[in-house]
Parts: sequence; C-alpha cells; structure tokens
Amino acid sequence: MGEKVIPLADHRYRAAAPQVPSRPEAPVGLLSDRRGRPLRDLRISVTDRCNFRCSYCMPKEIFDKHYSFLPHSSLLSFEELTRLARLFVAHGVEKIRLTGGEPLLRKDLERLVGMLAELRTPDGQALDLTLTTNGSLLERKAQALKHAGLQRITVSLDALDDTVFRRMNDADFPVADVLRGIEAAQRVGLGPIKVNMVVKRGTNEQEILPMARHFRGSGVVLRFIEYMDVGASNGWRMDEVLPSAEVVRRLDQAFGLEPLEAARPGETAQRWRWRDGSGEIGVISSVTQAFCSDCNRARLSTEGKLFLCLFAHQGHDLRALLRGGCSDAQIAGAIGQIWQGRDDRYSELRGAQADAELPPGPRVEMHYIGG
Ligand code: SAM
Ligand code: SF4
Ligand code: SF4
Repeated sequence: MGEKVIPLADHRYRAAAPQVPSRPEAPVGLLSDRRGRPLRDLRISVTDRCNFRCSYCMPKEIFDKHYSFLPHSSLLSFEELTRLARLFVAHGVEKIRLTGGEPLLRKDLERLVGMLAELRTPDGQALDLTLTTNGSLLERKAQALKHAGLQRITVSLDALDDTVFRRMNDADFPVADVLRGIEAAQRVGLGPIKVNMVVKRGTNEQEILPMARHFRGSGVVLRFIEYMDVGASNGWRMDEVLPSAEVVRRLDQAFGLEPLEAARPGETAQRWRWRDGSGEIGVISSVTQAFCSDCNRARLSTEGKLFLCLFAHQGHDLRALLRGGCSDAQIAGAIGQIWQGRDDRYSELRGAQADAELPPGPRVEMHYIGG
C-alpha cells in the first residue's frame, strides 16, 4: 500500500473572467440580486497563510510544508484592494471585514486599515470596519490597528483550557497569549469585541460553560458557531455538529438566557442575553438553520476573486480586470452584473436535502476566502 493521498482540487485556478458591460447604463449604485438581497457586507481575505492549523479549517496533513500558498505577486496590493473596496461601497457595501488566513500576518496591515477607514458611503457615512483574527499577534498590534481607524475586532477562541486549545490550533499555541490579545484590544477601545467559538461535538463542547463563565460581565460578546462543512479538506461529519439549540439549552440551564431582537437585517447571529443582566451572547446556526434568505455578503479572495457564497466552487476574477487596464466604471459595471445574477443559497438547499441543486465541483477553502 502506498501513502494515503488526499485529493484537494485546486479551486484557486478556476475562475470566470467577468464580462465588462459594454453599455454605458451598466448597473451602478445600489444593487439587489435575483432573490432581492442587497449587497451590504464585503469580507476581504488579505492572506491565505496562517500560523495555526485548526483541524476544521487548515488540517496539518494537507496544509504542510509542501502546500504552495499564493506567491506575493498574486495578492492584491493595498491600492488594488482599496480601489475595489471603493467600488463595492458605491454599490451599497456598508461593512468591511478583513480576514484570511490570519490577517495580522499580512505585513503593514494597519496601512490598509488606514486607507479603508477613509472611504465613505454614498450618504457620507464611515464604514463599519472590522477584522477577524486568531488573536495570536493581537497584543502587539491592537494599538496600531486602533490608531489606523479599525473600529472593532472579532477574535476566534475555541477553548479556555490550554491543552484543548493547543490541540485545536494544532500549532501548540498557548491560550494565555490570545487572552492577553483580547485584553489589549479592550484596553485600546476596539470594542465591542466579539469572541467566536466553533463548537465541535466531542472535541470542545465541555468548554462551552467555562467560556460563558469567563466572558459574562466582561463586555465581550461570545458567539457559538456550528462547525460547518465548508471547504473540501476538513473531513466534516454531521455527527460532529453540536446544534446551536443544544448550546442555548445548556447555557440557559446553567445561567438563564432570554432572546433578543436582531440588531440589523442579514445578521448571522441570533442574539440572547443573560437574565441577570450580565451581557449578551450569539449563536450562529449555519448548519441547522439556514440564513440565506437575507445573506448580503460578498467575499473577495486573497488574489482578488469575488465569491458570492461561502460554499461557492468558483469565483469571478476581478484582479484580471484591475490588472487588465479596466476603468472604474467598467469594473463597477462588472461587479453590478455579477451581483444581479446571484442566486446562491447553499445552506437552504442543503437543509432541504436538495442535493441535486447544490453547486457542483470542489468547494473553496475557508482560509482562502475568509470566514
Ligand atoms: N484566522 C482568523 C481567525 O481564525 O479568526 C480569520 C480567518 S478564519 C477562516 C475565520 C473564522 O472562520 C474563524 O472564526 C474560524 O473559527 C471560522 N471557521 C473556519 N473553519 C470553520 C468551519 N469549518 N466551521 C465553522 N467555522 C469555521
Ligand atoms: Fe487559521 Fe483562522 Fe483557519 Fe484557524 S480558523 S487555521 S486560525 S485561518
Ligand atoms: Fe450566504 Fe451562502 Fe451562507 Fe447562504 S450558504 S448564508 S448564501 S454564504
């Protein structure tokens, strides 16, 4: 028997070059897709590299020293990213989240934050500018990010117990450093801070109550995320998903919870508050309760491909337009056409067991398009 080979189709090279509309009346301004969903939220992956190897995202067996990450020349420059971001904002984007891979590994990220912080919506408002990080470099970078104009931050943290945490990040990274990063972010005013915990049944479910106890009353909003079947490399199994309803039941039993209204349409998390007034939590039920009907999120990969759904298998190569000499109007028109043609609703179809309608082909990896 030879060595086990895990096939990983390289989705990065599959991308449609977008059509540039030839008509001057190409879509401009606010957009809605084929299901009436506006474009409001843009997630930008600034690097496909990471210093963690969380098994649900970048399992070590695949993302090892032989894996070829994108060369620097493939990445969009900060100037290219800001140019695209401006066009997205003109189409209705109000919120930009920087992600990855681990975004804080991208050199001089605060310079990009500063450039994005200057953008204004058509009615003159500043953007809701945020970032998702594993927290490993946050203690060092929190002040510079705040100073550059970042408003808030989300930190991923799957356990408080050091042994469980080191096992989950699979890079032997200590939990104490991430907790210091969260404190630094609180100190400099990058709030309200959200902490995201991916819950895997049988792996870290015993950490739900300790995490809740730790963050209650701290001003940090803890959010529990169902383990998702994103990408093609994490060997996802439904029996490892702990449904959010069960998380809520356990928390309610331990501390007492009551539901809160959604803060805004398209919000991914269902909000709850502690009955004793010590703050709120959220649950993100991506697997057991699809929220595609008001999904207003677009994702830009590290090398400038536009993805319309986390579970898409193909992106639209905006970098080809940027580097092919297209004008702002042409690129804006192409983005408009792409969004207007959007019909994606993977989680809804999976929930309805409508496998025949699911997009065919290998799915894109989370570290490449960002969470
Ligand atoms: N490295 C940064 C971090 O971990 O926060 C940003 C990128 S990471 C891909 C963004 C988010 O996706 C993290 O909160 C991570 O926990 C989540 N994530 C990754 N794979 C997931 C999966 N299979 N199911 C649910 N969430 C996942
Ligand atoms: Fe890295 Fe974030 Fe993926 Fe973990 S979830 S491997 S920290 S990109
Ligand atoms: Fe949005 Fe796709 Fe997730 Fe549905 S499955 S909520 S369309 S990203």
